[in-house]
Amino acid sequence: MMIDLTHTLTTSTETPMSIWPGHPKLEMRKVASIPEQNANVTAISLGSHTGTHIDAPNHFIADGLTVDKYDLNKLVGRAVVVDVRGKKEREMITWEDMEKWEGEMREGVIVLVCTGWSQYWGKENYGQHPFMDFNAAEKLMGKGVRVVGCDTLSPDDICSPTSQVHKVILGAGGVIAENLKGIEEVLGLKDPFVSLLPLKLDNCDGSPIRAIAWSTGGESV
Ligand SMILES: [Zn+2]
Repeated sequence: MMIDLTHTLTTSTETPMSIWPGHPKLEMRKVASIPEQNANVTAISLGSHTGTHIDAPNHFIADGLTVDKYDLNKLVGRAVVVDVRGKKEREMITWEDMEKWEGEMREGVIVLVCTGWSQYWGKENYGQHPFMDFNAAEKLMGKGVRVVGCDTLSPDDICSPTSQVHKVILGAGGVIAENLKGIEEVLGLKDPFVSLLPLKLDNCDGSPIRAIAWSTGGESV
């Protein structure tokens, strides 16, 4: 059974999306409809970092890989969920918070940082999320991890002018998945795997994804 870790891309004002300040909003426009043209077709416009998405290295690294060239093998793999749901608004997530899972962190695994913040998606305090200490990001890279997912707008502090965590991960040739939804559910899966595949956008710095997780261990725990 698949667990959907993706927020809905919607233009509904009743269930608004949280978008990074200044980034393009989603637009969806019907350009053909069944009554008139015998088919439904929609024109879609959005930013490369709108909704649940990945940042390719090229987002912050000028000569870094773009989403179309990134190795897909790295974007599907065993998930290690770091449970830091006790963190408060804009509280730092340190390596000490993460080292309990140190033994599972290695090349090829996808580390999902579970703050529980996706419950605030579309609300005013969504941006006031806990954020990762850049030393913790460096430790993760040191362990060989290259894909890090979070259930927040960013792994960095929204007020940080330097985006250090982004630079550490993307600078190591890694990828960051942002605005994941409901990572909590992965905690209940035995031997969880996750898939974070992007659209094949030519030379693009990021892409919306349909993030999913599933158990490879039979019975759920
Ligand atoms: Zn992004």
